[in-house]
Amino acid sequence: MSRRISILGATGSVGTATLDLVSRAEPGQFEIVALTAHSNVAALAELARAYQPEIAVIADAKLTDDLRDALAGTDIAVAGGSDALTDAAARPVDWTMAAIVGSAGLRASVAALQKDSILAIANKECLVCAGDYFLDLARSRGAQVLPVDSEHNAIFQAIYPGHDRHIRRIILTASGGPFRDWSLQKMKSVTRADALDHPVWSMGDKISIDSATLMNKGLEVIEACRLFNLPPDKVDVVVHRQSVIHGLVEYIDGSILAQMGSPDMRIPIASTLAWPERMPTPADPLDLAALSRLDFETPDENRFPALRIAREALLAGEGATAALNAANEVAVAAFLDEQIGFLDISDLVSACLEEMDAQALLPKRFAGIEDALHIDELARKCVSRRMIRIHA
Ligand code: NAD
Ligand code: MG
Repeated sequence: MSRRISILGATGSVGTATLDLVSRAEPGQFEIVALTAHSNVAALAELARAYQPEIAVIADAKLTDDLRDALAGTDIAVAGGSDALTDAAARPVDWTMAAIVGSAGLRASVAALQKDSILAIANKECLVCAGDYFLDLARSRGAQVLPVDSEHNAIFQAIYPGHDRHIRRIILTASGGPFRDWSLQKMKSVTRADALDHPVWSMGDKISIDSATLMNKGLEVIEACRLFNLPPDKVDVVVHRQSVIHGLVEYIDGSILAQMGSPDMRIPIASTLAWPERMPTPADPLDLAALSRLDFETPDENRFPALRIAREALLAGEGATAALNAANEVAVAAFLDEQIGFLDISDLVSACLEEMDAQALLPKRFAGIEDALHIDELARKCVSRRMIRIHA
């Protein structure tokens, strides 16, 4: 039977990897309902012509007519704006890929939590911003959330059914990013191009910068605690430069189960796309003999303070993690715009958390999505104010 699917963030790195798998599947295996993008009309129109969704949605409402022109002569419905994005995400499907970057994807991800359907979640910012609320909502609506982030997908696969109560700890691996061997002194002069040059993974700009600061791993620790309902002290991080072991689960008897595979996002995406079955992918098979060795190191929180800052926010509660995420999004965008330096990213996030905490603005728990979005907005303003002061 055909699986009806929607892809939110279809033009991005995860979105296009998902569509690549769809293009290789048996004809009729997948039927595309919605494809969405932020502002790249040409890329969205090209994907829509190739994959024939029921609807294509451009989140930037100003571009709706451009998308309509680009899809003239097809029977694909066209819509634009944030309400249209949420409406498209709510169309009945069996499976949705949440691959919008940032907390901008939160409302659409919430809309996609439908009874008896699967939400494959790549959009980690959504879990960091909306906290446990999002997963509680998924449970109450009867939707299944499957992790796409490679580490979380690995851990999901390595949790032997029913044995989650026997977990001693889980371990997320990190490649260490492009600056894993750089001194702190050298890191002061990192350029945009240096930071985007990831040694292992090819990804969107925002997550590439997060991988360079190790904030990505900090966000992933928060994501893991939420997804697997574990306390922070049961989630460890290890730098593993070959990036072939993606995540490990250690049980109380000392057994460790790890998931391995080439660093290719199509592997974790496929495991959710075919779930509970499996499907083939074109990812390179792992050549264990050629690999010959696996290295593991403790991350250096002196050079990469983002990991410590994220852990502190996790202990402080949902208000702090939402603020951490939003502050980081703004700081990363400013770095990509070449307005601030690389080391300013973590400094700004930390200063913003301190400021909001001192003003008692960070609740331990949220009552709903509006609380999360309110903190998100306050943290964005806090970082923007601080950046104006840097430039003054
Ligand atoms: P990307 O920048 O390549 O793509 C982002 C997508 O989101 C695009 O389709 C873009 O049009 C859309 N988008 C951006 N801003 C939007 C907005 N305001 N409203 C609506 N749509 C918007 O990003 P990516 O690398 O594919 O990452 C997507 C998500 O998956 C991120 O949360 C990231 O952390 C996570 N993730 C990515 C990878 C990876 O390998 N790329 C791995 C693990 C997790
Ligand atoms: Mg990851």
